[in-house]
Amino acid sequence: MSMFDKEMQKALQADGEYLRQMTGEDHGPTYLATCQECDGEGFFYKRITVYEAGCGLPHDDMEVIQCGACGGWGLVEEQP
Ligand SMILES: [Zn+2]
Repeated sequence: MSMFDKEMQKALQADGEYLRQMTGEDHGPTYLATCQECDGEGFFYKRITVYEAGCGLPHDDMEVIQCGACGGWGLVEEQP
């Protein structure tokens, strides 16, 4: 796991804590549902081909795309 992933996970956990406080204190009970778009992952991992700058040889890499439906949370608010 890279530094980027760790930082991202920390940020997401902080966001989750923030949401819990917000929803618990200010908005009454809120129902959170697993995001259907990303299946609760919050991100899509897309396989891409990258060409080396020097030699021009291709290699596989993974591009991380934040889910637009839940903004990377993996959860969406569900209105009862
Ligand atoms: Zn999503």
